[in-house]
Amino acid sequence: MIEMVDVHKQFGDLEVIKGIDLTIQAGEVVSVIGSSGSGKSTLLRCINNLEKITSGKIIVDKIPLNDHKANIAHIKREVGMVFQQFNLFPHMTVLENITVAPIHVLKRPKKEVEEEAVKLLKKVGLEEKKNDYPKKLSGGQQQRVAIARALAMRPKVMLFDEPTSALDPELVGEVLQVIRKVAEEGMTMVVVTHEMNFAKEVADRVVFMANGRVEEQGIAKEVLVNPKSEKLRAFLGYSS
Ligand code: ATP
Ligand code: MG
Repeated sequence: MIEMVDVHKQFGDLEVIKGIDLTIQAGEVVSVIGSSGSGKSTLLRCINNLEKITSGKIIVDKIPLNDHKANIAHIKREVGMVFQQFNLFPHMTVLENITVAPIHVLKRPKKEVEEEAVKLLKKVGLEEKKNDYPKKLSGGQQQRVAIARALAMRPKVMLFDEPTSALDPELVGEVLQVIRKVAEEGMTMVVVTHEMNFAKEVADRVVFMANGRVEEQGIAKEVLVNPKSEKLRAFLGYSS
């Protein structure tokens, strides 16, 4: 579903992605971990063209991410993203937040989109909040709306960038629960997270990034329980 070949990304003189090769199969859930500044967010942002790569290749659902507007538009439609800060539109209700893009970007019929939005709200446990404005919701509820909003575009891939890092600890579980549900339904997902238990339980594979490179990767339970590289051992707090 996603193929990255020798991907590099520079900001000016600073190279932050230093040659990444990574293939993500349809239905696979991959957790990306690594210390601050290792390039995790930049990598995600490259996948949906929020950042333009300096060299290398990214292919999403067989479509190369290049300068062709049609390709970029196609990939942006197929890739949903959820950020640390929920970024809901403050002047729109929960329902409007979810339906605005399917109606105006996908040009789908309003009634059908609204029905689907209500189903999505049920899935994230917020059916009764559909007419509320974001500021009335808790952080966990806002993030669940953001997930529903991304799903409403019927993406083939979902990218999550530290979706629970901005939440109070007691609200983390409800959001992880929703992400787990989406994973179990077979969505292809890349989740940048500091929640190691979540990674261990939900991800098929863990990718550990260090200094712009993939330092170690493998089956989640193996990599997190029995890390090989010194850097990953240190990151996980294993004494060597
Ligand atoms: P964190 O865990 O703190 O979110 P991260 O692994 O997501 O870290 P990135 O945000 O990808 O790290 O940043 C990687 C490096 O790229 C950092 O040194 C950062 O300062 C730099 N960087 C990111 N975005 C830009 C930008 N727009 N312009 C210049 N430098 C940037
Ligand atoms: Mg980041």
